[in-house]
Amino acid sequence: MNDCIFCKIINGEIPSSKVYEDDKVYAFLDISQVTKGHTLVIPKEHVKDIYELDETLAADFFARVPKLARALKEAFPDMKGLNLVNNNEALAYQSVFHSHIHLIPRYQEDEGFALKFENNQNKYQQEELSEIANSINQSIK
Ligand code: AMP
Ligand code: ZN
Repeated sequence: MNDCIFCKIINGEIPSSKVYEDDKVYAFLDISQVTKGHTLVIPKEHVKDIYELDETLAADFFARVPKLARALKEAFPDMKGLNLVNNNEALAYQSVFHSHIHLIPRYQEDEGFALKFENNQNKYQQEELSEIANSINQSIK
């Protein structure tokens, strides 16, 4: 895609700090470095988001993530955790519309990265959970 910043990175049209490359994926340091080693992995084929990934491309894309995770852990032995983040659509904080997975090493609790999971368990009865699960299940193709 012509105006896609990540396609330009893959093509070497704009610089990046490359971590890894093969025929299917490209991995490079996120310019924001939320934490040291914050890495993005992207499929070489331009796909906007998770909804556009078919199973073959998804398999190629996601299969690279564990070895990148292990590489980060080996490179930075002081890592105490790792968050994987994949944002889809602007509401969910996607800002670059070429699908990517963030690997965000964690070294301590308070370091500029946070995830909040509210527990709304008390708002749902089992019947409603079953309806929700069924409606998702019936949409799987
Ligand atoms: P997201 O908000 O999930 O779409 O993430 C996009 C990420 O791309 C952000 O964390 C940016 O810091 C990162 N980013 C944008 N431009 C560049 C660039 N030229 N090189 C490296 N990372 C970039
Ligand atoms: Zn692209």
